[in-house]
Amino acid sequence: MGVVEWTRGPTIGRGSSATVSLAVDRLTGELLAVKSVGADRAAELKREQSILSGLSSPYVVRCLGSEVSASADGSGRGFDMLMEYAPGGSLADEIRRRGGRFEEEALIRSRARDILRGLAHAHAAGVAHCDVKARNVLIGADGRAMIADFGCARRTTGGGIAGEHRVMGTPAFMAPEAARGEAQGPAADVWALGCTVIEMATGAAPWQRFGSAVAMLHHVAFSGEAPELPPWLSEEGKDFLGRCLRQDAGERWTAEQLLGHEFVAFASPSSSSSVVPVIAKKELFVSPKSVLDQALWEEDDDDTTADTVDGPVDRVRALAAGAPDWTWDASWITVHSSGPSSDEPDMDTDTDSDSPVGGSSTSVGSSNSQASHADGDGHAQRQVAGYAVASRTRP
Ligand code: ATP
Repeated sequence: MGVVEWTRGPTIGRGSSATVSLAVDRLTGELLAVKSVGADRAAELKREQSILSGLSSPYVVRCLGSEVSASADGSGRGFDMLMEYAPGGSLADEIRRRGGRFEEEALIRSRARDILRGLAHAHAAGVAHCDVKARNVLIGADGRAMIADFGCARRTTGGGIAGEHRVMGTPAFMAPEAARGEAQGPAADVWALGCTVIEMATGAAPWQRFGSAVAMLHHVAFSGEAPELPPWLSEEGKDFLGRCLRQDAGERWTAEQLLGHEFVAFASPSSSSSVVPVIAKKELFVSPKSVLDQALWEEDDDDTTADTVDGPVDRVRALAAGAPDWTWDASWITVHSSGPSSDEPDMDTDTDSDSPVGGSSTSVGSSNSQASHADGDGHAQRQVAGYAVASRTRP
C-alpha cells in the first residue's frame, strides 16, 4: 500500500528539474524521499512516476505513491512523487567519498552487477532508462545500488522504441546510435553502463580530452571509437567493457547476458558499511543537519535532455547546446529560453560533456540574459541559439 500521510523534511537533493526532500511516513515513522516539481514540470514527473510505479526490483528505487500539490509559488498545481529513501546518496557521491575513484575492483564489480540487475528488470518490463550514470544510481541502507531518476526513460516495444523520438540523456554517456539520433533503447543503456564502470574506475566520465560537448558528441557519433579503457582494470573488466561498448548496438551484450559475465557473476554483495548515513526511521534521525553534513547532496555538473532535430549533425549540436537549469540554487540566475532562433549555435560552447543537456529550459528566475556571466561560485551561464545554457566552470 502506498504512503497515506507524510510530513516533508529538509531538502536532500536538487536536480535539473526537481527538488528532493526527506519526508516521514506518519503512520510507520519510515523515512521517505519526495521528489517535487512545480506546475510547469508536473507532466514530466507524472510520466516518470507512471514508468517507475510499473517497475518492481530491489535494484530500482521504489515508488511509494504520488500526489498533486500546491506549487510553492502559487502558480498552479505541482506534483510530488514519494520514493524509498536511499541514505547512501548517489553512486557519484560514493565515488567522491572514496577519494575520487574506486580503487577496489571488487566494489566496481558489485556496483556494476546491481545496476545490471536493475537494467535487466527494466528492459524486461519494456523500459529503457536513457540516462544511466553514477549520479542516477542511489545507494540503499543495506549497501545495494538502485537505479533512480527515470526522467529520461521511455517505453520500448521489442527491440524498437515506442512513442517518442527525442534523444535524451547525458552526452558523455551516450551511445553512438543515440548521439546520431537513430535509436535509444536498452542497448544504449548498456553502453552507458560501460561508461559508468569507467566513471567508477577513473572518477570521471569518458571522453575527458574533449573541451567541448559538441566535438565530443560528434566524435562519439561518427568516429567509430570507443572510450579509452582504464589500463589498471583486470582482463575480465576489460572484456566486460568491450562487450558493453561495441559500436554496433546489435552486437552489444544485453543486461541479462552481462549478468553471466565473469566480471560480475561472482561479485560479492556490497556491505552496508559502505553507506555513510544509515538512517531509516525518524526516531534515529537526530537532526536534518546530520544528513546534510555528509556532503552527500552536493549538486553535480550533470544532466538533461534535448529535443531531436533533423540531421545527425544538428542533433549533436542541439544536444550540446542545451543544459540544466539549476534554478533553485540561490547562487544561480535563471536564464529564460528565448525559443527557436535562426542563429547558428556557437560551436565553441564549452558545456561540460558529462552534463546533461536540455533543449527546452523552463525557468523561474528573473534574468533574461544573452551574455555569458559567471557568479562567485564559478558557475557560468549563457544563452546559445535559443537554448538556455548553464554550465559549471571547472575550478
Ligand atoms: P536530473 O538533474 O538528473 O534530471 P532530477 O531533477 O530528475 O535530476 P533526481 O536525479 O531524481 O532529480 O534527484 C536529484 C538528487 O536528489 C539525486 O542526485 C540524489 O542526490 C537525491 N535523491 C533523489 N532521489 C533520492 C532518494 N530516493 N533517496 C535519497 N536521495 C535521493
